[in-house]
Amino acid sequence: MTWSHWLVPPFPTSIFFVLGFLTLYQVSYSWLTTQLHEHQVKISDDFFKTWYGILYMLVFVFSLQSLVVGQSNSWAFMNFELIAVTFCAYFLNIRIPVYFLFPIVLVYMLFNGSFTYWQSWGHALTLMAFFWILNLIRVKLHDRQYTMLVYLVVTIPFGGLLWLWMKWKFALSWTTFGQEWLYLVVFEVLLYSYTAMLSRDSRTKSHLAQLASHDALTGILNYETYRNDVHVLFAESKKRQRSLAMIMFDIDHFKLVNDTYGHAAGDQVLRAIAKTVDQIARDHDPKIKFYRTGGEEFNLILPEYTLVECDPIAQQIFTTVDQLEIAIDPEQVVQVTISVGISIMNEDDQTSLDFYNRVDHNLYHSKRNGRHQITSS
Ligand code: GH3
Ligand code: MG
Ligand code: MG
Repeated sequence: MTWSHWLVPPFPTSIFFVLGFLTLYQVSYSWLTTQLHEHQVKISDDFFKTWYGILYMLVFVFSLQSLVVGQSNSWAFMNFELIAVTFCAYFLNIRIPVYFLFPIVLVYMLFNGSFTYWQSWGHALTLMAFFWILNLIRVKLHDRQYTMLVYLVVTIPFGGLLWLWMKWKFALSWTTFGQEWLYLVVFEVLLYSYTAMLSRDSRTKSHLAQLASHDALTGILNYETYRNDVHVLFAESKKRQRSLAMIMFDIDHFKLVNDTYGHAAGDQVLRAIAKTVDQIARDHDPKIKFYRTGGEEFNLILPEYTLVECDPIAQQIFTTVDQLEIAIDPEQVVQVTISVGISIMNEDDQTSLDFYNRVDHNLYHSKRNGRHQITSS
């Protein structure tokens, strides 16, 4: 193999070409989403995935076609183009209405100079029907065990029909027709397997990310996440001159709960309190973040909240926990109280630790002063 001679036959080369083009999509998509997250661009992942996917495939299809447009072999890249269409219709998790495809197909036909061929019109209509049915089976038969079978039942005959139009238009031999159709089936299977592999991989990754950022016992955010978040939110609030509040609470005499009812009952109490407070926070404002920062110590960060705004939330948490009756077994109910410290970031705070120390100091004050109270400053 040299620069001037490529001895690998076209078919394996095509397989690696398809894999390369899918990998490039995946890698560039991951890189771009990381950039968007890092720069905190407010755009939803799904929206970006859709538009990036469509744009990527359009650039791919039109660039490939520009290499052969107007030539007698302008069908040469059709299998790659059909893979791009299948990808958009079936694997991008979105519903693109079929009328959206119509102008694209028209532009493509204009670009390709195939407006006057009846076979091209037949091909265009078949392509739109193919797109529509792929979309339909993705939505209706999602997550069924036999999805791959349905996918093949659709892609194989449609692939044949699409190639049949091209056979008529370019007077291809039956051998070329059969060969191209077969290649398309192989590519479609490859596409399916590759995408299934990637989505399994990304599910594993997001599961691991969830495990790393959340507390195993209560399911709320953990101390590591708190450390990262408080740092980022502190810097951001200072830069934008916005307010930032923190509520910290600790269960009173929790050791006694463990000693009296056992460690498992203690765990149950922690879970019940976390669940209750999490619900209060969510009901108020999804921007409020709630963490388990220690054994029986919890923390809420409230971006853009003043002391006056966060006082009633702390009060609601305090009284709700007071009234909470946690059934540890059918006959036994446990009730606990909490001590709370609240503060907001002020101009003298150099780091998030200065801010945290004041909240901690207020919590300590509640404890020293007889527990079961709120200290705010
Ligand atoms: P105070 O009112 O001063 O906060 O007293 P306390 O007993 O709540 O505080 P202390 O720090 O003396 O004890 C905290 C206890 O919390 C000790 C520890 O065994 C218990 N604890 C920490 N993590 C867990 C956990 O995950 N599950 C259970 N069941 N107990 C835990
Ligand atoms: Mg305690
Ligand atoms: Mg404690």
